[in-house]
Amino acid sequence: MAVDNIQHETSIKKNQRFLSITNPATEEVIGRVAISDPSEVNTAIKRANLAFTKWRLTTPIERANALSKLATYIDQHSRELAGIESRNTGKPIKLVLKEEIPSIVDCFRYFSGICRNTMDVSSGDYIKGHTSLIRREPLGVVALIAPWNYPLMMAAWKLAPALAAGNTVIFKPSELTPLSIQYLTDAFSEIFPAGVINLVYGEGSIVGSLLAASDMVQHVSVTGSFSTGREVLRLAASNVKATHLELGGKAPVIVFDDADIDQAVEAVKFSGFYNTGQDCTAACRVYVQSGSFETFTTKLIDAVKSLKVGDPLDPTTEVGPLISAHQRQNVHAFIENCRQSNSGKIALGGHFLNDKGFYYAPTLILGCRQSDAVVQEEIFGPVVTVMPFSSFEDALTLANDCRYGLASSIWTNDIRKAIAGANQMRFGCTWINTHLTFCNEMPHGGLNQSGYGKDLSSYSLDEYSIAKHIMIKYE
Ligand code: NAD
Repeated sequence: MAVDNIQHETSIKKNQRFLSITNPATEEVIGRVAISDPSEVNTAIKRANLAFTKWRLTTPIERANALSKLATYIDQHSRELAGIESRNTGKPIKLVLKEEIPSIVDCFRYFSGICRNTMDVSSGDYIKGHTSLIRREPLGVVALIAPWNYPLMMAAWKLAPALAAGNTVIFKPSELTPLSIQYLTDAFSEIFPAGVINLVYGEGSIVGSLLAASDMVQHVSVTGSFSTGREVLRLAASNVKATHLELGGKAPVIVFDDADIDQAVEAVKFSGFYNTGQDCTAACRVYVQSGSFETFTTKLIDAVKSLKVGDPLDPTTEVGPLISAHQRQNVHAFIENCRQSNSGKIALGGHFLNDKGFYYAPTLILGCRQSDAVVQEEIFGPVVTVMPFSSFEDALTLANDCRYGLASSIWTNDIRKAIAGANQMRFGCTWINTHLTFCNEMPHGGLNQSGYGKDLSSYSLDEYSIAKHIMIKYE
């Protein structure tokens, strides 16, 4: 389906409502997508329930083959998908093609592989004359609700394990970024039996809420903000459905004096500003040991100045616009608040860029207070704070002083300091001498207000299945 599908979408129903989709780099409307009304959401849930009766009985190899076909389809259509994703989100096309699509293809391939290789504890007698078996069983109908910052990647992280485990799914993309998943509609219906994958579109507060509250849905997985996670949890309580919440983050980066400073600078330049900082694991809260603070900040300012901000479709662009005017205003409000508080020094950026598009200048703030909003809150924009610290204990206290707990990194050449530090970091992931390095084999998820549960790896199959005990009395 073409990105520009305005002509294609004639009003089929009376009173049909549409999502109007904007290219954040040009502010032009590039498509519109019909919003699912409550009866359509209900029909999707019923279809998924019906399809579950058969899909749950498929063998792992059948599910593996379907996931593998989907991986191949995405791989073969990577250029079209990358173009759509880039226009809809403002992501630089170079990065979508190099960093995101290969990892998305690999995600479906990985789950195609491990779904054939899951073995639970085999039989054992725990009571005399009784044999126990453990079966891993799917949950039923699973609602998957995704954010706008990685539309296709978050879809892969949710769809692949949920389908591999034998569930049927209702997938709702963000109301801002439905185009890449919509492009896959035909592939879904060609590869999977009817009703196994159901797509619904619309606002979170309406369509998302219907999914989270439905008694016919057994599990809801949402990646989004803390307030959305809390609301989904409240709605899911109606039938005590299982929940998986991947929420916000504010990743600290601790750079010790003995670290490779050039490598740390490069990593913050890349992972602080990747996706224009709209990343829950962005390297946005940097603490540098006093002995290296000046060298580090001087080098970082030069590095960030060199980032090429501009047209996402230009293959040399490194940083695109923010997703919306609203998001840019949110980011700017943090900067204004920082200016008024006279706390940190805005060493770079802190202003809008370009006449057209929701661009914001890559921004560095030096030496703020730990309690400042720019240090404590998720800004979700191209803003990195850098503060000095004195001792190991000081660094750990500052890094852990945050309500989020998703990702973090430590930079040092002393393995004892690295391990001791990583063990004390209260985050779902601590990278050592790297940042924003993902692989499909390893789990991703947070603690505290970053939510709970795991995406990726064999751990995510546990999110979408239960261990069922069968006991046989033979004496
Ligand atoms: P958001 O919370 O506004 O929306 C996320 C999704 O939830 C959207 O599809 C939205 O329509 C839906 N939604 C909103 N209200 C809902 C409700 N009441 N019931 C059901 N669904 C509802 O988040 P966003 O602005 O799209 O994305 C940015 C947020 O996502 C950031 O906080 C970011 O940190 C987080 N995020 C986290 C991870 C992670 O792995 N932890 C990854 C990406 C993004």
